[in-house]
Amino acid sequence: MDGPGTRFVLFTSGCPLRRLYCADPDTWPMHGGREAAVDEVTTETGKYRGFISYALVPGWTDDEDAADGLAGLLSGLSCVERVDILPFHELGAAKYDALGIPFPLRNAPVPDTVLVGRVRGRFRERDLVAH
Ligand code: SF4
Repeated sequence: MDGPGTRFVLFTSGCPLRRLYCADPDTWPMHGGREAAVDEVTTETGKYRGFISYALVPGWTDDEDAADGLAGLLSGLSCVERVDILPFHELGAAKYDALGIPFPLRNAPVPDTVLVGRVRGRFRERDLVAH
């Protein structure tokens, strides 16, 4: 996983979203994994608070006003503990290659530290903890 700290990650089988910057295309198939009761999942995940990951891709998710709008929304949610700004990288490309799926962001630019700082600042301006 991107970002600092120890993470609890719950991957569910099957995702129709196909986000442009998805680093986990291996979770897209609707079958696989193991069945789990909702109670089991909520009991386990309920021990943790919410972290938001914001994938920052120049030309796609670097609109600072849009980031500010999201920050405004998140600032009203008490369950959100922090926001991690994740600068785009191509580490997920190997998964796409292994699965035979074209990687849509191959050769996309990596955001520089100035841009990362500006976007991070939009979240901090809303009194969110942002890294
Ligand atoms: S990151 Fe990938 S698997 Fe997760 S919601 Fe987005 S498209 Fe689906």
